[in-house]
Amino acid sequence: MESKIQQLKLLLGEITDLLYAQSVLSWDQQTYMPSGGAEGRGEILATLARLEHTRWTAPELGRLLDELEPAAQNWDPDSDDACLVRVARREFTKRTRVPNSFVGEFARATALGQEDWVRARQASDFSIFQSALEHVVDLRRQYASFFAPYTHIYDALLDDFEPGMKTAEVQTLFEELRGEQVSLVKAIADRPQLDTSFLGLNYDEAAQWTFGVDVISRFGFDWQHGRLDKSAHPFTNSLGFGDVRITTRPILNQLGSAMFGTMHECGHALYELGLAPELARTPLAAGASMAVHESQSRMWENLVGRSLPFWKFFYPRLQKTFPAQLGKVGLEKFYAGINRVQPSYIRTEADEATYNLHIMLRMELEIALMEGSLAVKDLPGAWNQRMQNYLGVTPPDTARGVLQDIHWSIGSIGYFPTYALGNLVSVQLWEKVRADIPDLDAQMEQGQFAELLGWLRSHIHRHGAKFEPQTLVKKVTGSPINAKPYLRYLKSKYSSIYGL
Ligand code: ZN
Repeated sequence: MESKIQQLKLLLGEITDLLYAQSVLSWDQQTYMPSGGAEGRGEILATLARLEHTRWTAPELGRLLDELEPAAQNWDPDSDDACLVRVARREFTKRTRVPNSFVGEFARATALGQEDWVRARQASDFSIFQSALEHVVDLRRQYASFFAPYTHIYDALLDDFEPGMKTAEVQTLFEELRGEQVSLVKAIADRPQLDTSFLGLNYDEAAQWTFGVDVISRFGFDWQHGRLDKSAHPFTNSLGFGDVRITTRPILNQLGSAMFGTMHECGHALYELGLAPELARTPLAAGASMAVHESQSRMWENLVGRSLPFWKFFYPRLQKTFPAQLGKVGLEKFYAGINRVQPSYIRTEADEATYNLHIMLRMELEIALMEGSLAVKDLPGAWNQRMQNYLGVTPPDTARGVLQDIHWSIGSIGYFPTYALGNLVSVQLWEKVRADIPDLDAQMEQGQFAELLGWLRSHIHRHGAKFEPQTLVKKVTGSPINAKPYLRYLKSKYSSIYGL
């Protein structure tokens, strides 16, 4: 059996290499590639993706899994090898259910979808995007049909991003959040507005960059195994095992944007850099799910980066960097300012109290589209109505409404819920962290994060994708994903900031 598992690792190692090769090319595309390279790059990426798919669906891989599985029944189910066989079987089964012809058509439809979406957003005209989106929705429905019978059509889509999770579980969690978050936002709206004008002054971009580098170095970002570069949209990508790239983009008159964005991407990077070396060059060398990945980025960005203990250490440094802008702004005022709650049109700019509402709205619309109870042409209206109900604002145009996110154009229907789930998981883990490290605040006030990072590595990072998200969260916190910690956190934080 030893040689069979070695054969499996050999096959999966090559598949992983193909994936990393795509990462190198797409990282370069978003950072340094001249714009004239786009067309050629698209073809190379398509070839590599096709090769990767062919390898994943090879009969040889299926035979090997058939041969290994009876023996794997007797292995420790938490062992690396048992998890590898399980995860490889899952991926093999999913991939082989989808016909090759569909894979090609989906790639074409989403390439076109993305083009139309860019034009539609520029013109703020939904009609330019409508027929491409109708096609994408149609294909996602078709995709779900490959996984019939299912309890809910959305299950198959969600499962691509949150292995093992069901639509009904997410709906129950969101149900619990919705009412409480809507009333919290309303209660805050009745309080006097906080002054945040100092965040919009001119902040030298190079100095913002240096400050961000200082922060993430203290978080434990390892410059021997990572780089920080500039890109239009911040992202994190592993280009190989032990080589993680993050990006950011300082904006002159928006202090928070790059600062919190850098911490966010660093959180993703620390996860990738904390994977156990034994998992290298296998499909286990990845996050447990998109939500668990997002829990790590949100933890460093929000629970650490938007906390008072963190700023007790870093604010004097920030003031020294920007004396003209912040010299007269006290710590309490700064802390309140970076935590201001303000219902807004754009998800990526949303604060912690309103963010999940942006996500619920998207998931509800996605489900309605998949169920066929909402037509694509009626999407802008349905969007605006929910924005009004949940956030009390109506977007002035579709560019700041239904057209703001790229996800649907690239076919990522089923992805959005992972952002809100990530928020929930971040606080659920945080409560456990605080119980295990009672003097965490004192450590953060000293700019010390090593014990926190060590905790995350041993409880979350090292496991990679060995466990499904719900299994992992339950192993670590004793409960599956739960909305209560997040609600407790929001209420306590904003009660003190807004005097509720
Ligand atoms: Zn993220």
